[in-house]
Amino acid sequence: MRRIVIKVGSNVLTTDKGKLDITRVSSLVDQIAWLKEHRYEVILVSSGAVACGRQELKVEYALDSVEQRQLFSAIGQVKLVNLYYDLFREYGIHMGQVLTTKENFQPGDQYENQRQCMEVMIDNGVIPVVNENDTVSITELMFTDNDELSGLIARMMKAETLVLLSNIDGIYTGNPDDSDVEVIRSVKAGESLEQYIQSSKSSAGRGGMESKYHTARTVADAGIKVIIANGNTPDILINLATKPEETIHTEFVPKC
Ligand code: GLU
Repeated sequence: MRRIVIKVGSNVLTTDKGKLDITRVSSLVDQIAWLKEHRYEVILVSSGAVACGRQELKVEYALDSVEQRQLFSAIGQVKLVNLYYDLFREYGIHMGQVLTTKENFQPGDQYENQRQCMEVMIDNGVIPVVNENDTVSITELMFTDNDELSGLIARMMKAETLVLLSNIDGIYTGNPDDSDVEVIRSVKAGESLEQYIQSSKSSAGRGGMESKYHTARTVADAGIKVIIANGNTPDILINLATKPEETIHTEFVPKC
């Protein structure tokens, strides 16, 4: 059984106007259902709670950044997870929500409990849908973003592969807007790509290519294959599984 952690960023799940992109979520669920049918064990790390909540509610007075995160994630996470629930249900697939914080990754009972919880979900065919518990995360102790969270989950759950889906095809040899650049297809164990990494951030989520690169490097160094690919490309997950050579992405070869 191949265990795979799929991280989907807010930019993949929301439209340009910041609304939840139901068609996109539905297509991801279709692909995950396909993977499950083909005997993959899937853990989904999904962002989008804050972006979803922001769309739902017009606030009449100024909120500070912590209040915004708490309010919008509380509303948005419900909406997001309900959508996943309904869509997976169409396939007869059960999903369960796992909300976590950085403190839960310190060695100890909470870490072990969390791991155990996700193992029992997977053993029973349930897809864990993971996000940071933004309602209670303390700013200083937050994950840098869900890229970091997905890397910790992949290591904790001893996944074979971590797939980071964003709105870009992979890591480019320069500015993706220039015509003479290309996607770096394979990154050898231990190889550094620092010179190619742009520090600009995504608009909807907290991550960016810098954080994806750091997560990918660390996770591949821990012996897990990492793929950075474009979640907006139709059937990307199925294509990565069935015809990886023809599918544009960046792969970090795991350290043995
Ligand atoms: N946990 C945040 C959310 O669901 C996203 C964090 C990130 O953008 O990586 O809205």
